[in-house]
Amino acid sequence: MITSDPHNLDNDGSLADQGTAALPDIPILCIDCKQEFIWTSGERSFFQQKGLVNAPKRCKPCKKAKNDRVEAALAAADGQRQKVAVRVECASCGRETTVPFYPSQGRPVLCRECFRK
Ligand SMILES: [Zn+2]
Ligand SMILES: [Zn+2]
Repeated sequence: MITSDPHNLDNDGSLADQGTAALPDIPILCIDCKQEFIWTSGERSFFQQKGLVNAPKRCKPCKKAKNDRVEAALAAADGQRQKVAVRVECASCGRETTVPFYPSQGRPVLCRECFRK
């Protein structure tokens, strides 16, 4: 414990006071709609509890719109990664099989066994 330096004690005391005092509302200019919105003291203490240090850049509607855009982009990327399984009839043995692509019209599709022959 450092008790010999009174300046340290003073600093700690004032910092603790700031932490418990109600945070003032802060007006912030939204980077998307350029409208001013209020970052309320309640939201600021919520941010503090979460350990977030950066102030929000967007008002709530714009933040939601941005999240929706991100989700839509992620969903689209997910869809592209999904493998297709198209049911087709083997042109050689007539058995039903699945292929990982959409066969073009008129092109014979073979099952794996016939394909190896
Ligand atoms: Zn906005
Ligand atoms: Zn076949």
